[in-house]
Amino acid sequence: MLETTIAGSLPKPFWLATPKMLWAPWKETGAALAEAKRDATILALKEQEDCGIDIVTDGEQARQHFVHGFLETIDGIDFGKRVKMGIRDNRYVADCPTVVGPLTRRVSAHCVEARIARAHTRRKLRFALPGPMTIVDTIADEHYRDRVKLAMRFAELLNEEARELQAIGVDVIQFDEPAFNVYLEAAADWGIAALHRATEGLACKTAVHICYGYGIKPNIDWKATLGGAWRQYEAVFPALAKSRIDQVSLECAGSRVPVECLGLLAGKDVVLGAIDVATDRVETPEEVAATIRDAMRFVPPERIEPSTNCGMAPLDRTLAYAKLAALSAGTALVRRELGR
Ligand code: ZN
Repeated sequence: MLETTIAGSLPKPFWLATPKMLWAPWKETGAALAEAKRDATILALKEQEDCGIDIVTDGEQARQHFVHGFLETIDGIDFGKRVKMGIRDNRYVADCPTVVGPLTRRVSAHCVEARIARAHTRRKLRFALPGPMTIVDTIADEHYRDRVKLAMRFAELLNEEARELQAIGVDVIQFDEPAFNVYLEAAADWGIAALHRATEGLACKTAVHICYGYGIKPNIDWKATLGGAWRQYEAVFPALAKSRIDQVSLECAGSRVPVECLGLLAGKDVVLGAIDVATDRVETPEEVAATIRDAMRFVPPERIEPSTNCGMAPLDRTLAYAKLAALSAGTALVRRELGR
């Protein structure tokens, strides 16, 4: 009960990539880069274990970005043909590659680091992949010319990847769908159908992560426009409650998400964001415990996994692990109250 986990990414060591930035360039190439990624992955597992995290991740140490790490292994995408696109409904502009032909999967994207992670921890392993709708929102398209068709094709390719991850021994496969919080009608209309295609035939646990983004300025500015109560989750949770996805990973710490909306996820595991990734202040264990107790008014503790609001890739490394230690300490307070 109340097993702790994280949303996915962790800061990379300075010898792997430039610290405290998204899309950070790698410090090495070729075999040296492969070795540095391997070392960083093992280190990220060890640090999570030392911080008391029960369900660990590879920390996304082997990918430059949570979407493009997967795309780099797909044929039919021209990475030289970059288009500046307003993504997440024009919240920010990104340099996106272009789909120029039929999409096929050349090699697995993440099986190398999944195998390394599986070999170096006995704890349950959670592994994040980008969700189909979020991929479609982060790429230009000159071939399919239809967002739903494009998403369904990506969902098929993600399913191939997910089946391989499951065979390696990954316990939870999570699809990151920040786009669900932006395109509310489309998420319920076809976003969940695409997730169902991506998770088809999986016996391991499946999760969707829906957040308000990394703690970067465009996201912080966007949140300031959302008013006193953030109602985005309310639009998509009822459809998710009816879906075949087992878990919903969401943002709760330091946010204006009305906690009662968790009640809309009856029957699902709630991976509860109890650590804010948009501040440089380490939460106290008591603050973490308060977030968990608040959620317990709407979700039974057997169904809660305390976690981070979002990925921690752009944070200071020492700060990120201090926050994970606070997550464990706060969770321990609540477990003690419950006599577990
Ligand atoms: Zn996130």
